[in-house]
Amino acid sequence: TIPIFLHSVVFRSSGLITLPSILLIGPSGSGKTSLLTLFERGTKAAATHISQTPIAVECSLPVGSVANSDRYRSENDPTNQAHKKFLLVDTPGHGKLRHHALENITNPQNLKGLIFLVDAATLSAGDEGLRQTADYLHDVLLLLQKRATGSKAAKALKEIPVLIAANKMDLFTALPAALVKSSLEAEISKVRTSRSKGLLDSGIGMGDAEDEKDDWLGEMGSINFKFSQMEEFDVSVEVVGGNVAGGEGPTVDKWWKWISERL
Ligand code: GDP
Repeated sequence: TIPIFLHSVVFRSSGLITLPSILLIGPSGSGKTSLLTLFERGTKAAATHISQTPIAVECSLPVGSVANSDRYRSENDPTNQAHKKFLLVDTPGHGKLRHHALENITNPQNLKGLIFLVDAATLSAGDEGLRQTADYLHDVLLLLQKRATGSKAAKALKEIPVLIAANKMDLFTALPAALVKSSLEAEISKVRTSRSKGLLDSGIGMGDAEDEKDDWLGEMGSINFKFSQMEEFDVSVEVVGGNVAGGEGPTVDKWWKWISERL
């Protein structure tokens, strides 16, 4: 499974240190492989990378950005270098393989945050991409929500920050970040309603108010889903735009910043 594999990667590349990891998920085609490749390269020479697999890539923060945990260290402190490294874990966006992604969330290995990458050019109203993306995101957020009320191990990471990275901003069809946010919220509201209706129709939810409550994302009784409803479950969601490819080169500074603030 991915968590075990991940461990061996960490062991090989960094001795006994378990590197902080950032989980990268999202529908296929959103740009995960491209982002992984870009982040692995960073701004440094390739020499800083030690391991490369399709799913876990060791990255370093670009020169000049300081991890949150290192902000009081002297610039010459050698531990600075070690602390700047982190693992970016790619997970298959394909439906059937999604449980691997979800496994990583329930078994955090020094997990510091989650990046959900979306293709901002496929999120217009009525676009199949919007429905699929909202469907996947709904499931991920529901898992995080359940985690907050779940087992001890899953609770190890108290607060989980989620970055919805709205990719492909270089394309003129891409929605701006604010619209990506509201479109996803609106579509997740629909997913949420149809899921609970599905439960009722199949009789699963009948008479068991607790179960129904468990599978309802965000605030009970609310008509519209908002990402801010996740705060109650210690999940903070931010939507930030960027582009990995195209345009006049990559624009990922804000994503880097988000990562560095969580390391
Ligand atoms: P994955 O399936 O999530 O791993 O997505 P890929 O990394 O394979 O990217 C899917 C396609 O989108 C590829 O053709 C990329 O070149 C393209 N792509 C990725 N990021 C961007 C971007 O920021 N802008 C544009 N225009 N294309 C991108």
